[in-house]
Amino acid sequence: MLSGTVALAMFLLQTLVYVPSVFSRHQDSLEHRFDLERNLLSSTFRSSDHLALDVSDAVIGDTLVGLVLTSAQGKLLLRKGDTFGYEPGALLPTTIGAITPITVELTTRTGVMNGTGFVNTSNELYASVWHGLLYFAIALFLSAAAGVVAIWGTARYYLAPMEALLCALRNSRESSDAQAPEPIDLKSCEDLSLIADEFNSLIDEQRKSSRQVKVKQQYLEFAAHHDPLTHLPNRLMFENALKKTVKDSIADNLHFAVFLVDLDNFKFFNDQYGHLVGDKMVAEVGNRLRTMMRDIDLVARLDGDEFVVIQKEARDKDSAEEVARRIMNVAAAPYEYRGFTLKAAVSVGISSFPADVHINQAEDMLGEEIVNNAAVALQEAKSNGKNQYQLFNEKMRSRLTARIRLEQDLKIGMQDGQFEVYYQPKINIHTRKCTGSEALVRWRHPVNGFVSPEAFVPLAEETGLIIELGAWILQTACDMTYELQQKGYDGLNVAVNISAVQFTDGNLLPMVSKALEESKLRPESLELEITESAVMHDPEEVISSLHELSKYGMKLAIDDFGTGYSSLAYLKRFPVNTLKIDRAFITDISSDNDDVAIVEAVLGLGKHFNMKVVAEGVEDEEQLNFLKSQGCDIAQGYYISKPLSPEQYLSWLERWPYGVQSAGAPSESMLPVLTYKTGT
Ligand code: C2E
Ligand code: MG
Ligand code: MG
Repeated sequence: MLSGTVALAMFLLQTLVYVPSVFSRHQDSLEHRFDLERNLLSSTFRSSDHLALDVSDAVIGDTLVGLVLTSAQGKLLLRKGDTFGYEPGALLPTTIGAITPITVELTTRTGVMNGTGFVNTSNELYASVWHGLLYFAIALFLSAAAGVVAIWGTARYYLAPMEALLCALRNSRESSDAQAPEPIDLKSCEDLSLIADEFNSLIDEQRKSSRQVKVKQQYLEFAAHHDPLTHLPNRLMFENALKKTVKDSIADNLHFAVFLVDLDNFKFFNDQYGHLVGDKMVAEVGNRLRTMMRDIDLVARLDGDEFVVIQKEARDKDSAEEVARRIMNVAAAPYEYRGFTLKAAVSVGISSFPADVHINQAEDMLGEEIVNNAAVALQEAKSNGKNQYQLFNEKMRSRLTARIRLEQDLKIGMQDGQFEVYYQPKINIHTRKCTGSEALVRWRHPVNGFVSPEAFVPLAEETGLIIELGAWILQTACDMTYELQQKGYDGLNVAVNISAVQFTDGNLLPMVSKALEESKLRPESLELEITESAVMHDPEEVISSLHELSKYGMKLAIDDFGTGYSSLAYLKRFPVNTLKIDRAFITDISSDNDDVAIVEAVLGLGKHFNMKVVAEGVEDEEQLNFLKSQGCDIAQGYYISKPLSPEQYLSWLERWPYGVQSAGAPSESMLPVLTYKTGT
């Protein structure tokens, strides 16, 4: 196309130049011919007189085809050859075919004559036509050459980049999984329009795909900085925002507060209602927090159930506390989801800037410190029983450090076998025979010595280590009790404390059956104790687990009864065999009438629901006698024995004057199991 245009342009250009040139050349050759003829006539007649007309015969021929001579007065002197009827004095015709008349003044020896010659200019015409044709051929040749040059130039300067562009476009399309067309062979391509079509279509696609790429980029940008579930900013965006907030606050001398918000018992929600409900709850909490805070504040999701809030321009601790209370309230409002009405609680740790940081450090470190402080405060809120907020203070940090160290030691202790199981004997109050024992874990720390289970069991629960530790305790207690039974104390049973975490873990039943199987202990010789507070935390879940366990014949006890605000409606649905009165009520039984009333009430409940009642923390004869008079079944406490190592327990059994309950006798484990009605 381009080359055609170039060739045509070239041709027109040459025509413009050549046509006038051929024309003027033709004119020149005519003039030349006329001059020649005039000269010939002049020289012919110069040496003759003007009547020597015979001379004229010599000049008439193919070129000068006719001649008319007149005297100076206009008198016709001669007419020779073909003169086309020309009369002297008449207007001279311009051309007659290829014959052109010319005038000439002839000087003879006798005077002057005027001549009119008729010159045949065919030769000149032919010569000019040939010249024209030659020029036309040259023009054609040059135009064609220009066309070729144009093709070459186009290929060099236009096609090559276009080919590269096509290549790039194809590659990009191939990489975006589009169907690439067959490549066009540019060399065999006669018409560039084909390429242009493809080029345009590729450009079109490229535009579309670049729009998609742009949208995709925007999406990726958003995804990199936002959490997919709540659409809140994620940790990365929070960290950037925190850096900026620290910078601005330093520059403008502003205060701000960071709140770490963590859902309480979120694992329980997930396990109980499934992850969909758990996710829904997280999304809802996130949304409520976002709606509650101002636009200048930031709400981000850091992890599963953990949010962070930056309250900008926080005036003082009072205003931070006010925000914390509002956070707790919005989180606690009920959630409706697919027929469930759920209630969540959150713990909140708060750290304020600049009050809670060491200001003389790098800005990055300041951000890190304030978040760490909020985390310390959050830990404090969690270990103080959750569902509360805590403002950071320095003392918390040392408590947390101690906790962290304890946690590490706990892990090492488990690896190094620093734990032991002790056994605290229990007796039948009426016969005083030993009925069995409660297994109590002991930790002999290599540096700190004895560590109370009350100090490390809650931490082991929080960190999940209790699962492994609890399994080991259960196995050890079952092995030991079976060994004692083999030694002749066949009526002995053992009670093992089970933490709430083990109950909700979903692995309790396999763990218990494995312990029984490996130890060969009969299920009825094992009692599982779960604290009242753990039971009441999620009664429905516990009820179904207890039902499962009771099917296998092992016994179930509610520990520390009286401290966990049991609902009586639930109590009658629990398939438990034993209530253990908390030792707090036994301690002052001889002096505190309220405690007496509580113990009597628990014993009444036990009787009503056909459960045994175990009194723990019996420290003297008076307490034992009182419990006996009230019809309590079993006693446990320092008055009978402190918790004992396995060796001590064996020797205690050998020395216990009232003996050990035998397997045949109606032991505590043979007492009737509660019959319960479901759905009441
Ligand atoms: P608990 O299950 O109520 O255990 C009874 C606690 O009362 C034991 O404390 C025991 O030593 C103590 N005790 C028994 N009689 C008396 C007495 O007459 N006077 C006084 N002052 N205390 C008495 P210990 O062994 O320190 O255990 C404390 C708590 O730690 C246990 O309370 C139980 O909740 C938990 N725990 C202990 N061992 C384990 C275990 O193996 N697993 C789990 N999950 N928790 C355990
Ligand atoms: Mg117990
Ligand atoms: Mg107890």
